[in-house]
Amino acid sequence: MRITGGCFCKKIRYNAIIDPKTVTICHCTDCQINSGTAYGVVVGVVKDEFVLEAGDLTYFEKIADSGARRTLAFCSSCGTRIFAKPADNKPGRFGIRVGTVDQRDTLIPKQQAWWQSAQSWTADIRDLPKI
Ligand SMILES: [Zn+2]
Ligand SMILES: [Zn+2]
Repeated sequence: MRITGGCFCKKIRYNAIIDPKTVTICHCTDCQINSGTAYGVVVGVVKDEFVLEAGDLTYFEKIADSGARRTLAFCSSCGTRIFAKPADNKPGRFGIRVGTVDQRDTLIPKQQAWWQSAQSWTADIRDLPKI
């Protein structure tokens, strides 16, 4: 599926090919801190088919619990996180942050990763008062 997307300040624009079956809620502690909220939502890019059309990305390299080095990409102007992929162009998961995808309303999560570190309340928000 071809998608388009961009950042909060609109300087970043991209297009990509993603697999909608890979939309994943990630409860890892890195996603909690990095997103500034309770979890990340990512979708897998097919065969590195990601094209940056406009804007400048800033990169940060993290070392995952597995020991793998991953490159996180952010808008250099507003800081919106755009994607994470293996460092040094190694093969592996290339995940776009679903909140930046223009077609995000159609990208429904299919699975949850790192459930063991999930914030306990995330399983049960449906009944919270709507204000
Ligand atoms: Zn931006
Ligand atoms: Zn994560």
